[in-house]
Amino acid sequence: MFLCRLGSLNALSQTRESSFWRRWLGRPLPSPDTIGRVAALMDVGGLRAVGKRVYERLKRSKALDPGPHGLMGAVLDGHETHATFQRRCAGCLQRTIHTTRGERIQYYHRLVAVSLIGRDLRLMLDAEPVRPGEDEVSAALRLLDRVIVAYPRAFDVILGDALYADPRFFNWAVDHGKDALAVLKDDRRDLLQDARRLFEDQAPSIAEDPTFRREWRDLEGFTTWPQVKTPVRVVRSFETRRVRRQLDGEVRQEASDWYWVTTLSRARASTGTVVQWGHSRWDIENQGFNALVNEWRADHVYRHEPTAMLVFWLLAQIGLNVFSAFFRRNLKPAARRVMSMLHVARHVQAELYIPLPRAPT
Ligand SMILES: [Zn+2]
Repeated sequence: MFLCRLGSLNALSQTRESSFWRRWLGRPLPSPDTIGRVAALMDVGGLRAVGKRVYERLKRSKALDPGPHGLMGAVLDGHETHATFQRRCAGCLQRTIHTTRGERIQYYHRLVAVSLIGRDLRLMLDAEPVRPGEDEVSAALRLLDRVIVAYPRAFDVILGDALYADPRFFNWAVDHGKDALAVLKDDRRDLLQDARRLFEDQAPSIAEDPTFRREWRDLEGFTTWPQVKTPVRVVRSFETRRVRRQLDGEVRQEASDWYWVTTLSRARASTGTVVQWGHSRWDIENQGFNALVNEWRADHVYRHEPTAMLVFWLLAQIGLNVFSAFFRRNLKPAARRVMSMLHVARHVQAELYIPLPRAPT
């Protein structure tokens, strides 16, 4: 279902008569109801072990190279899978929504996923649901505690958005011999103010061309965040870009101002590497999560039950990993030039449909 991007168990069940299933399963495809019911009873650990085997195969075949800086990154990302006013299960989180008809309780699910970023391949490693009554960082730490056992040497740096500028996350990284990197925003006011003050006296490293200019500032040894066990480093990248608007051809100046806080030393990662890591977090969000959600329908509620929802998410992750590895590593560059990922997915789908008996027209 995921590899063909069918999007629902009902769409899958429309291929039940295909001889593909008898050939592969030795029996007809189970009904959507049975698949949903079985997903709720599955051993999630067993499924995570399948994901780990995919990682080990890729690692052994040298498909997971770090970038030129030699460091492997892992990215943490929170994702809300669905929200509803009506149905609830034991894993539902809840919040109060103020509507024109008064306050209403909304139920929703959220999970944290961790993915590896190599030079040109992204691999979704694992995911963990946020439980009722806890925050996302707590769920992320539970996820990291499991990931560090299963993948102790898979990554060097863990990246997160501003939510992860949190002492629990930074101290976890320090305790486990990893580096942490997070977006720095106003909620860490003391550290941010301290950095802004010191940066005023520092000459920036500047690079520019006719359309782009960036100013980098970089200082380490900040102790203004006493809850974190080690001094931290702050990097700022102020970027301006001239863009021509498609609508009226007018040239406009766009500026962005980023601060990151990290435990990475300057000896380990240059300013440019930190900036690259900081920005790559957003690429991941676009490439990893958006693909998983929009193209792979990973957050569709195939069955509203906590285990089933996690099982379907992990299956989608495994599907995406195998598919991306096949696309990037097995297909010849010439084939990749003429075939998009969607094109290849349609070929896989055709394998299901071609043997279908033809309906009378
Ligand atoms: Zn629920």
